[in-house]
Amino acid sequence: MAIAHIPGFSRVGAQRELKFALEAFWRGDTECHQLQGTGNMLKRRHWNLQRDAGLDYVTVGDFAWYDHVLQTLALVGALPTRFGINTQSMKLEDLFICARGNEHHFAMEMTKWFDTNYHYLVPEYTPDIQFELNAEWLTQDIQAAKQAGHNCKVVLLGPVSLLYLGKEKKGLTNRLGLLPNLLKIYETLLNEISKLGIQWVQIDEPILSLELDLSWQQALIGAYSLLGNTPVSLLLTTYFESVLDYKSLIEKLPIAGLHIDTVRAPDQLLSWHEWAVQHKKVLSVGAIDGRNIWRLDLGQLYETLEFLHQSLGHRLWISSSCSLLHVPVDLELELGLNPEIKSWLAFGKQKLYEISLLRDCLSHGKTSYTAALEENTQIQLTRKNSRIVHLARIKAAVNSIQPNMSERSSAFECRIEQQRSALNLPLFPTTTIGSFPQTIEIRRLRSEYKRGAVKHLDYLQAMRQHIEYAVKEQEALGLDVLVHGEAERNDMVEYFGELLTGFAFTQYGWVQSYSSRCVKPPIIYGDVTRLEPMTISWTSYAQSLTNKPMKGMLTGPVTMLQWSFVRNDQSREQTALQIALALRDEVLDLERAGIRIIQIDEPAFREGLPLKQRDWSDYLRWAVNAFKLTAAAVQDGTQIHTHMCYSEFNDILNSIAALDADVITIETSRSDMDLLDAFVKFQYPNDIGPGVYDIHSPRTPQVPEMIRLLKKASTVIPAERLWINPDCGLKTRQWSEVVPALKNMVQAAQTIRQVQQEQITP
Ligand code: GLN
Ligand code: ZN
Repeated sequence: MAIAHIPGFSRVGAQRELKFALEAFWRGDTECHQLQGTGNMLKRRHWNLQRDAGLDYVTVGDFAWYDHVLQTLALVGALPTRFGINTQSMKLEDLFICARGNEHHFAMEMTKWFDTNYHYLVPEYTPDIQFELNAEWLTQDIQAAKQAGHNCKVVLLGPVSLLYLGKEKKGLTNRLGLLPNLLKIYETLLNEISKLGIQWVQIDEPILSLELDLSWQQALIGAYSLLGNTPVSLLLTTYFESVLDYKSLIEKLPIAGLHIDTVRAPDQLLSWHEWAVQHKKVLSVGAIDGRNIWRLDLGQLYETLEFLHQSLGHRLWISSSCSLLHVPVDLELELGLNPEIKSWLAFGKQKLYEISLLRDCLSHGKTSYTAALEENTQIQLTRKNSRIVHLARIKAAVNSIQPNMSERSSAFECRIEQQRSALNLPLFPTTTIGSFPQTIEIRRLRSEYKRGAVKHLDYLQAMRQHIEYAVKEQEALGLDVLVHGEAERNDMVEYFGELLTGFAFTQYGWVQSYSSRCVKPPIIYGDVTRLEPMTISWTSYAQSLTNKPMKGMLTGPVTMLQWSFVRNDQSREQTALQIALALRDEVLDLERAGIRIIQIDEPAFREGLPLKQRDWSDYLRWAVNAFKLTAAAVQDGTQIHTHMCYSEFNDILNSIAALDADVITIETSRSDMDLLDAFVKFQYPNDIGPGVYDIHSPRTPQVPEMIRLLKKASTVIPAERLWINPDCGLKTRQWSEVVPALKNMVQAAQTIRQVQQEQITP
């Protein structure tokens, strides 16, 4: 009999219950016990879901009030010391102060959890940190689950990953030095968990998916040589990548079992199977995709795993590849989804049943499950042959892409001459990133139109008024390159996805991004093509209102892909190329409509990077190519812009330059233009607009500080290649914030132009 379990489940709930409870509490509308009530209700509900689906264990300890890294810090008394929180008397409010800051403390930093769209709070390790166990919250959960009659497995984030994911602060030089003390806490904790009658502890060390240097590898050996000897059985859990690099390391550890991700890294399965047989270990196979929403291929998985089951029996565990935190909760809520598409999908709850079914097939033989197998085969077949998935025309178009289609006809130096004379822009041209404030009226208008409560013509009329307003404001401010403001877009991916074929949208397909924030990624289920122009009428209308150049605004192919659930029946590269071809037509239509500057946003370009650096070049090859295919068809005189945010570009500057955009606007102000250091070594060849102020803050940037940043920039980037713009789009701001900020930005531009003029003609 194989065993069924999951590494973790969603915390927010199918209807984002936790989000609303958190936000009500933060607003002061509810008391702490009400928030706790919602959290406890969600935990119970999710345990019951696991039991009802027939899993052998329910997973306890995966819940987090804000984030699981923060939750673990609280558990081991490692919250940043600067908050002065007493571990023993810690309250829920203290967690929120760390996460969100208050008038006395700035919030902890947040960053992406590996290559997911989930963000965790970055631990701060200082010389004065004193670990101290506070297991009360966790033991309460274990007791509650046991009292409810569940067979529990407890999950913890492992000590080595916890250290690795943090930063050294206040003069601490090597956070690995903290490991011995931290291990004492984990050791005590594992003993306490054991006393509560728990046998299995899933201990996550996701850093095993990375390329670790020797000191971290040794830390893992040291840690598990110790922890493996506690009375619990440890299931060392890895995900997102192969961990075969560490085969000999893991072989040394006195662990009871290993969980591997065989969706992302199927090739590691046989090696680890051998290991499990040889050393009599548990092998937990993460065969159900925890990162995507497609139904499993039962027949195929059965074939792959049957012989593993023969040799491992109850030591074969069946699981999702990673925590189901990364997929929406319940497909049953999707009443509006095309039934054909819906039949191909499984969300978190459905995946529990898949895991259970796969275990049953393996345990009892497939002959007992012929109906289920047949139904599943049928589903796979209809998807494979579906007319809404496959469009021969698009496949043919992708196959006939020629390398020269991704190259501009002339080199940048030649193009920029033509563009400068056609556009007639001043030195240090000013522009914005695209969106202007999404006011309540704009949001209301869009949602009423969507509901059918506003007629098409009235909608057009009203939207045009918003565009007109944005254009007038920009003219009054004296900006050089204008935008239409993106009022018609509620989201930069969804807007295009709704107009392209191959995209589907859910109603409740929410996935936690950070704390109460969730995103609802579109589903790319089929071949992508453009049925009609998507932005031309808005952009042309905006251009008709002004003599200044109007930038056309598109979302790039890599970002469209990165922020969606992507089909798994062809490579990501293929899908990216389809999107690129669709957008390429839009680019050409914009050019034909007289738009001379076109911006193709790629804010998610960097986040697509694989976890192992050795895999970067392949990704960068096709990602750069998809962008260039989108952009390159225009004439020399048409200027292509791109925009990126979320910093840390230093290590991929080569590829960013390879995009060959005429202008890139890029986030830099939050890091005080740290990026520029890289430009000392790397001569970025084209025009660049390093953001001069942070749009995430409501405060008005002052002229002198922007001048300072610009002067800093002009020491490494020649003046004639510098643009002046904010860090990112302005849609989350108010007009009352945007106007003074941009006024100052234009003022800063004027000042620096004068300075430059005086230097030329002293
Ligand atoms: N053009 C988009 C905007 O201005 C870019 C958003 C982004 O970079 N995330 O909103
Ligand atoms: Zn941005």
